Amino acid sequence: MITDELIYKTLKDRFGYDTFKPGQLAVIRSVLAGQATLAVLPTGTGKSLCYQLPVYLLGHTTVIVSPLIALMQDQVAQLNYQGEKRAVAINSSLEPRQKQLILGQLSQYRFVFMAPETISQPTVIQALQQCQIDLLVIDEAHCISQWGIDFRPDYLVLATIKRQLKPRATLALTATANAQVRHDILTKLDMQSANSVITSVDRPNIYLGVSQQVDEASKNRFLKQLVMESQGPGIIYFSSRQKTVEIATLLQETTTLKVAYYHAALSTKERFTIQQQFMQGHLDVICATNAFGMGINKADIRYVIHYHLPQNIESYLQEVGRAGRDGKPAYALLLATAQDMYLQQALISFGIPEVGLIQRFYQDPNLFKGSQGNEFELLRRYQQIGMEEQAVSELLKNRQKEKQFALQTMLDFLNLHGCRRQFIVNYFDEDPRQIEHDDQCCGEPNSTAFLEKLNLKKITNDKAPKTAGLDHWNGILKQLF
Ligand code: ADP
Repeated sequence: MITDELIYKTLKDRFGYDTFKPGQLAVIRSVLAGQATLAVLPTGTGKSLCYQLPVYLLGHTTVIVSPLIALMQDQVAQLNYQGEKRAVAINSSLEPRQKQLILGQLSQYRFVFMAPETISQPTVIQALQQCQIDLLVIDEAHCISQWGIDFRPDYLVLATIKRQLKPRATLALTATANAQVRHDILTKLDMQSANSVITSVDRPNIYLGVSQQVDEASKNRFLKQLVMESQGPGIIYFSSRQKTVEIATLLQETTTLKVAYYHAALSTKERFTIQQQFMQGHLDVICATNAFGMGINKADIRYVIHYHLPQNIESYLQEVGRAGRDGKPAYALLLATAQDMYLQQALISFGIPEVGLIQRFYQDPNLFKGSQGNEFELLRRYQQIGMEEQAVSELLKNRQKEKQFALQTMLDFLNLHGCRRQFIVNYFDEDPRQIEHDDQCCGEPNSTAFLEKLNLKKITNDKAPKTAGLDHWNGILKQLF
């Protein structure tokens, strides 16, 4: 029997903390009791500790399935930094000989990180079956749900893997999952009887603001002023790579701030350098696409600005959640013009191959080689796991509907007259009455409360139209098509 006293002692000895953050202790107790557990904890609340601590009380191997190589390497680096040498990531960046060597002595490791496509390889399964697995962790577990934001077909094999590995306990971790996604996670991982630990998605120290701008020129002026007035590092998110470069250049040329841009087309080395500079406080602002962020663990980010409308509430929340991890006031501001909505609509309409294209893909996948589109990547993966053409086209059609719905929800959020935090918790199936709405929590960014709370000087936003109703925006959208 592992007592709470022992758990707290481990927390202090290994991690140097005296108290747990909300949800952590419940997850740890559940995992230690050998229970299948689903933990939904918002970004920044310390999900990693939920599996790192039990490892030291259980003593054998913990396997962590993670969707991104960068994320795994980050976790291993962090563990190494904490003095833990028995941590390893197995992924495609390893040389075959290196991989063989590690697999041959796998049971010596406490933490083994891998991507789902790696864990389903026969040699890897065999090596894992030689180990005593205390805990199987599915990180970013929402990737298993086609309703989730980052659906990864590879995650679907995990129920089978779980049966083969017979871990003592399984832990599914995610930051954002509404009731539908939670249900999907539990079903797809075959853990219906799991304990669920769900803490509120609300982040009270982050002010949620929206500012509607008439056009891009006014948006740029406003953005520049805001960034110059803000204190501490910040991230500006864009849906286009070209815009990250354009606005970073604008800010570099017209302010004294240290600004860089970041997107997936940069080399690994460039991306690494920028990330390091930002982490170490040498950069004030990063202009980035959504390629920047997963695993970014910088506590003092003071603001996250969305230059374009995010594709859905889940991405919005994840990106916003990178601000204010230290618990101090931070702000999130969503800037919007009618053109942005058009851009999002266009991304949805053109980003997904039509049924005819799916057929052509099945006839000759090479035709699509080098295609960067997410949906083509998805198609490739579907095909690799042997999914039928019919099933794929059904799935993709459903996804398109979902994306359209997600966009509508984003527009509702944008045009909201009520409390934005209440809207968000309600979306994640929590009781909105838990939020006490006041002018310190959300609203227009040039309100006195916003400026005072964040210690900003007066920013002029006089070009912004009065909050427009949904009909207004929909009307503009219709004209654009
Ligand atoms: P998440 O994955 O949920 O976004 P992380 O696991 O990266 O969050 O943790 C966020 C930050 O909180 C890290 O800097 C971590 O060291 C810190 N942290 C985790 N648990 C605690 C705790 N019990 N007390 C204080 N800080 C903690």
